[in-house]
Amino acid sequence: MWYQDSFDVIVVGGGHAGTEACLAAARMGCKTLLLTHNIDTLGAMSCNPAIGGIGKGHLVKEIDALGGLMAEAIDHGGIQFRTLNSSKGPAVRATRAQADRLLYKAYVRNYLENQENLTIFQQPCDDLILENDQIVGVSTQMGLKFKGKTVVLTVGTFLAGQIHIGLNNYQGGRAGDPASVDLASRLRDMPFRIERLKTGTPPRLDARTLDFSVMQEQPGDTPVPTFSFMGKTEHHPQQIPCYITHTNAQTHAVIREGLDRSPMYTGVIEGVGPRYCPSIEDKIMRFADKESHQIFVEPEGLTTHEVYPNGISTSLPFDVQMDLVRSIKGFENAHITRPGYAIEYDYFDPRDLKQTLESKFIQNMFFAGQINGTTGYEEAGAQGLVAGMNAACRVQGKEGWTPGREQAYMGVLIDDLSTLGTKEPYRMFTSRAEYRLLLREDNADIRLTEKGRELGLVGDARWQRFCEKMENIELERQRIRGVWIQKDHPAAEQLNPMLKNPISREANLEDLLRRPETRYQELMTIDAFAPGLDDKQAAEQVEIQIKYAGYIERQLDEIDKKKRHEGTLIPTDFDFSQISGLSNEVVAKLSDARPETLGKASRISGITPAAISLLLVYLKKHG
Ligand code: FAD
Repeated sequence: MWYQDSFDVIVVGGGHAGTEACLAAARMGCKTLLLTHNIDTLGAMSCNPAIGGIGKGHLVKEIDALGGLMAEAIDHGGIQFRTLNSSKGPAVRATRAQADRLLYKAYVRNYLENQENLTIFQQPCDDLILENDQIVGVSTQMGLKFKGKTVVLTVGTFLAGQIHIGLNNYQGGRAGDPASVDLASRLRDMPFRIERLKTGTPPRLDARTLDFSVMQEQPGDTPVPTFSFMGKTEHHPQQIPCYITHTNAQTHAVIREGLDRSPMYTGVIEGVGPRYCPSIEDKIMRFADKESHQIFVEPEGLTTHEVYPNGISTSLPFDVQMDLVRSIKGFENAHITRPGYAIEYDYFDPRDLKQTLESKFIQNMFFAGQINGTTGYEEAGAQGLVAGMNAACRVQGKEGWTPGREQAYMGVLIDDLSTLGTKEPYRMFTSRAEYRLLLREDNADIRLTEKGRELGLVGDARWQRFCEKMENIELERQRIRGVWIQKDHPAAEQLNPMLKNPISREANLEDLLRRPETRYQELMTIDAFAPGLDDKQAAEQVEIQIKYAGYIERQLDEIDKKKRHEGTLIPTDFDFSQISGLSNEVVAKLSDARPETLGKASRISGITPAAISLLLVYLKKHG
């Protein structure tokens, strides 16, 4: 049976990728359907109750800059906020927030339910409807068919999901949810390259059975940061602390003894796990000489006693989990409310996707989230937004768009996936971006909001606020260029204690701000320089733009140079093996593809930006 209406965009899966995908398409005016297993799990956090962190926080701010939901949802559901790397440069500063799972989920659901152009329907999608090499709809478990011009698949860890606890294993999409078995087998009949990955989660504990007095308290930051460019601290619910404890020699001994019943160490699990979020058994084996590992004891919410012991993800048998947990300081009497487990699932080789996240094989079918080999809510949300937006562009006959590596971490993520692929769960780090100084959390809106507005992703209120902020920045930069102070000016007395070296000649406020030891807000306390900006975001930009102007310009130059070299010719008989520093794999790929220009070389799957730089240097030297 066909459903009465047809849709422009059908999004399958209501996780972090799916919610951003359907919201993006609906915001752009497309008639959108979100088809998901269970409406009650919209926006559910399968693993840790936290959003952001290094590299990930950058993605959240970019989602926000393009009108997405994640930052706003965590602002309303976050119970502890911190700025990581706050003492380091702005490029690597990152926001992280602990979430109240229920508040977060409720905010997401409410937002989705009130989004114009969006219909939500609960049913498992079991099949895809194709005409030749084009997708035209999907069909559900009860045989209901939905017609759609485009489909975005975002089914996370659910495809042929297999949950492992010790040597016991059973089908599941995550604890408490069914696996997508029929859909997985249907997809295996299609021309995709499919492999298995694995991820895991720790047991959850009842806070009433823990002794927090022997743990180290970790409060959030004051003033409390916000995630969204539109966020206000008033949006945050009550803030509460986290705690820190550690594993010890006894914990490690318990784990070692249990390894003969570990699904990972007995070869039952074949999928590759996340390198940067390893299980505790992995950590003990890989870092055998480490005597202790840190555990962050994170509350799951304001209205529950459950806590998430971040750092002891495990798929060891339950009796071993009990012993290892109770060996930890403060956990001696712990009650486990949910066992830890690992899950294996199907993922698609993302090299089979275009930069728009559309499949290279099936027209109008887009893939986003964990099914592309990533791990993390933020990576999923970013891909969801890009896929939903590109599906909408396709429907509206507009050219698709994906930010470039020089524009956004989203661009780095998608470029890495679609050119390099991944053999293990991919997570974002600032070190993955070559233009880190440009891709900061604080300027995500400056990098993306204008484009988002052009695409129809950014609403009026956000656009107005953005324009105001840009104007404030511009006017303030003009003003401070014109504020001068002589060394005998009465204000110099107030100023000199703020400086390493007192002013010796006439200086303007911009020169003073360029000095590493000065801060904008502090300078504005001097009457001669006031009034400063009330707009804190704009003030931060003025300071960063001035202080880092030299570095930023250098990076812009580099990008420019790279663009200029797109057309640089590579001789047809060029011997790539002459270039020292290129891996054998890269040499083989280049020799095989024989690109005519550097631009073409850079788009070959598996050819990294670093390899292109080496090639460019060589060609310039010997050309
Ligand atoms: P999901 O959030 O999994 O959402 C998928 C959605 O699709 C769900 O709503 C589901 O109900 C729906 N769905 C599935 N199949 C169908 C179907 N056939 N029809 C309709 N709807 C369907 N991330 C980290 O960053 N660090 C970690 O340590 C970590 N550990 C994890 C441990 C476990 C056990 C799990 C399960 C996940 C873990 N994650 C971790 C990953 C994190 O949960 C995901 O990266 C993130 O949720 C992916 O978002 P997504 O939208 O791609 O998929």
